[in-house]
This record gives sequence, C-alpha cells and structure tokens, in this order.
Amino acid sequence: MKLWKRILGGITDSPLCIACIQADETPKHVLLRCRGVAEQRTAYLGSLASLPEALGDLGSLLRFWSELSWLE
Ligand SMILES: [Zn+2]
Repeated sequence: MKLWKRILGGITDSPLCIACIQADETPKHVLLRCRGVAEQRTAYLGSLASLPEALGDLGSLLRFWSELSWLE
C-alpha cells in the first residue's frame, strides 16, 4: 500500500484516498466514511459517529492505522 501510494503520488500528485480513490484522503474520510477500509474500521473502531469519538480511543485508532500499513 505504501509503495502504491508513493507511485500514485509521484505520477498524479493526487491527495485521493488510496483505499477507495473516490475522495480526498482526510482523517475524517478514512475514519468515518471510506468504504475501502470499512471492514478494518469496523473491526478496530466499531461504528463511529464523529472524529472526536475516534480520537477518544487512541489505542484502537493506532491499531487501525497500523493495520492499514499507513504508519511509517
Ligand atoms: Zn477512501
């Protein structure tokens, strides 16, 4: 995934989400809306209603992010 992101970023310089390529890759999109990571998001975070809710459980948030391999 990281390699893909680097390649796509190099070619298109696009901020698009690498999981669904349908929206800008913002924390809000990935944590609340992205369908590309819906399975992992539900497994690690459950169903979230808002960003503060996600940020209230940093442990789960980091495991989710780590699962996506977006952490360096
Ligand atoms: Zn997405």
